[in-house]
Amino acid sequence: MTGIVAMKGCRTCCAVVAALALAVAACSGDDELDRQGATDPVGTVDPPAMSPAISTPTAPSPSTTAATVTTSVDTTTTTTTTTTTTTTTTTTVAPTTTTEGQTSTTAPTVAETEVELGRSAEGRPITAIRRGTPGGTTVLVIGVIHGDEDAGTAIVEALRKLPVPAGIELWLVPSMNPDGQAAGTRQNANGVDLNRNFPTNWGPLGQPGDWQYAGIGPVSEPETKAMIALSEQVRPDLTLWYHQDLFRINPSTGVDGEIRRRYADLTGLPILEVSGGTYTGTASQWSRTIAAEGGIGFTVELGKRLSADGARQHAEAVLAVSGEL
Ligand SMILES: [Zn+2]
Repeated sequence: MTGIVAMKGCRTCCAVVAALALAVAACSGDDELDRQGATDPVGTVDPPAMSPAISTPTAPSPSTTAATVTTSVDTTTTTTTTTTTTTTTTTTVAPTTTTEGQTSTTAPTVAETEVELGRSAEGRPITAIRRGTPGGTTVLVIGVIHGDEDAGTAIVEALRKLPVPAGIELWLVPSMNPDGQAAGTRQNANGVDLNRNFPTNWGPLGQPGDWQYAGIGPVSEPETKAMIALSEQVRPDLTLWYHQDLFRINPSTGVDGEIRRRYADLTGLPILEVSGGTYTGTASQWSRTIAAEGGIGFTVELGKRLSADGARQHAEAVLAVSGEL
């Protein structure tokens, strides 16, 4: 059990601190086709069916459990202070230069904050890195959900190095399935397909170890709990989940469809339907329910391999579409 405090500045500044505590359990897995086709229609998502073990104080709690990050911003004086009490978090705060006339619009830039969201079943940390403008357009990127599909980690690494355009708040999770990644399996250490374990449209599927085993219930896995807790805290406007190796992005409609097409254009991926599985409890469906106003969340199916240039191209595409939200 690990507690973290994630913070998100309000859009007009002032002090905002939120706290959450999560639990994380096990993992282990195998390969996949993350199809979200006919059984994953946009707009038919159900509200989250459960409440993960999250503690979310509404008032600032400067120091609680394992990781605590507190940011205080005074818009009048544009001073920013940050204190961090955690063994896993390093925080650098670089206040944006304030010039006359911009006092009310500038926001501090957090160069990088790393927090531990929780632990996998085998005790591996699941971490998130925050970059960019607190309170900006919030974008969450998950490099790995299926342990044997880890090309997305290179995209996360590229996103840690590129400058983040003003107005974008990035949350980067290199891997939400470190045990599956270590074992080279799709599932977590409990044999659960984490991409069938989310609460939206969850349904029982398979047996432990099956490629689509959905777990004993929605959000039964610590890795799922960790991601839900983070998402409920930061409410991303856009969530991207990387998979392999179908080399496509599933089509969608509305703004969600436009962003997918834009991302596809920037990366050379075709827009093609993903099909062949049972798409209950998928992460991308759930992530479209999390934002206050029409959240966008989709799976990017990379190819079998991703070059360094390809990873950078994807990272630049993430930033580009984020700036267009
Ligand atoms: Zn996958």
